[in-house]
Amino acid sequence: MSNFHSKEQYEEIINQKLNDNQLRKNLQSVMQTLKTNRKNTIAARYTDWEALRELGRRVKQNTLANLPTLLEIFEKNAIKNGFKVHWASNAKDANEIILSLMQKKSQNIILKGKSMASEEIHLNAYLKENGISAVETDLGELIIQLIDEPPVHIVAPAIHKNRYEIGNIFKEKLNAPLESEPEKLNNIARDHLRKEFKDFKIGLSGVNFAIANEGAIWLVENEGNGRMSTTACDIHIAICGIEKVIESFEDASILDLLLVPSATGANITCYNNIIRSPRKEGELDGPKEVHIILLDNNRSKILADKHYYRALSCIRCGTCLNHCPVYDKIGGHAYLSTYPGPIGEVISPQLFGLDNCSPMLNLCSLCERCSQVCPVKIPLASLIRDLRSEKAGEGRGGVLGYSNTHRSKIEKQSFMIFRNLATSGLKWRLLIYQVRIFGGFGKIFGNMIPGLKNWLSCRSYPKLDATLHSKVKQLKGVIYE
Ligand code: SF4
Repeated sequence: MSNFHSKEQYEEIINQKLNDNQLRKNLQSVMQTLKTNRKNTIAARYTDWEALRELGRRVKQNTLANLPTLLEIFEKNAIKNGFKVHWASNAKDANEIILSLMQKKSQNIILKGKSMASEEIHLNAYLKENGISAVETDLGELIIQLIDEPPVHIVAPAIHKNRYEIGNIFKEKLNAPLESEPEKLNNIARDHLRKEFKDFKIGLSGVNFAIANEGAIWLVENEGNGRMSTTACDIHIAICGIEKVIESFEDASILDLLLVPSATGANITCYNNIIRSPRKEGELDGPKEVHIILLDNNRSKILADKHYYRALSCIRCGTCLNHCPVYDKIGGHAYLSTYPGPIGEVISPQLFGLDNCSPMLNLCSLCERCSQVCPVKIPLASLIRDLRSEKAGEGRGGVLGYSNTHRSKIEKQSFMIFRNLATSGLKWRLLIYQVRIFGGFGKIFGNMIPGLKNWLSCRSYPKLDATLHSKVKQLKGVIYE
């Protein structure tokens, strides 16, 4: 599946989303609820949230600094616990490992708990091509699977649909009675999924934290489908991005304290599934085999970058999306990437190549709200700005798929002229003086100049009735030198 999307494709989908009033209404209402819940929970339950954020930042920094060693420790302990550990250097490897496990066990259905890593490698499409059905069991994932859409949000995949729309989807796709009450909708989904869970053999999940010292994996979820997918099967496959490995339970607990209120505004998550081994002799349930796939897919390249490695601290809470003034207008599909929103803008170019998705870097106003709320203090806005420099050919060129071909000759020359004028006091004043004289002409004739016509269609000339210097001079009590 190609990761490349052109500027025109981005423009088309953004316009489409901006004109979808129902989508904007749905997004705004849910985002508002998530933001308010987060704020209230933090105010009510945490005495020093900022200190906890700093602790979380340090935990992730230390982890990333020692990641190669921690991965080896995790592998050793996980094998000791009876897990089977697989290394996947890219999406193809990961998909092939899963397919071969399915084929070895002669299974053609896999039940999935929520996993963004599986979205990243386009697992469902790959399995389908090979005659295997992947059944989503997370409520949000089930809804979007029924309408054949990708997740719109990294935590809440169907957040763009309201309960009336979901009722219609269930009626049409599951032959259910038309309902709009959340409890009734939940019951419809539960009845449908219980049938799927009845005698499945292979379950798949993501991983929130992989604890190196214990060789254990930790999954955080709210619906119980994660527990079903990982324990009621014969074989459990867990896909784990290598950055999810963390040293100890203590470290993971700090991150969990930051994750839950940031993600949903809840005090505590409903299910914490800590899996330490496959079923042991004498135990009545649990999978007989657990396979953990450690997925790289360009993460080690990001880790090696002294600047952008910080993006690997992400614990996928989604709060940067919830607070983004661009995301709440267009939703996640307009980013044309598995990872949307601010964190998507930082990691997508690095995971999938800058040339493939660079237009998404424009979906940011650099307001910094994402950096202010990120529980592990990733400087998202400044990383987005730096990636824009890469895109413009001004960066260090270290990002995957980078090629210094983005800026046109005219663009380059215009910026050179601007830099020349803006860095000289005399030239700048002369320019402003000219603008005051010619501004009026611009207003009249600007629309006739091809390059300016589009720009002026949604902007107007500022009213320049005096220079800053002359204004300051007029202020009483100000000594102007
Ligand atoms: S970048 Fe920060 S705020 Fe955004 S999803 Fe990751 S941890 Fe959450």
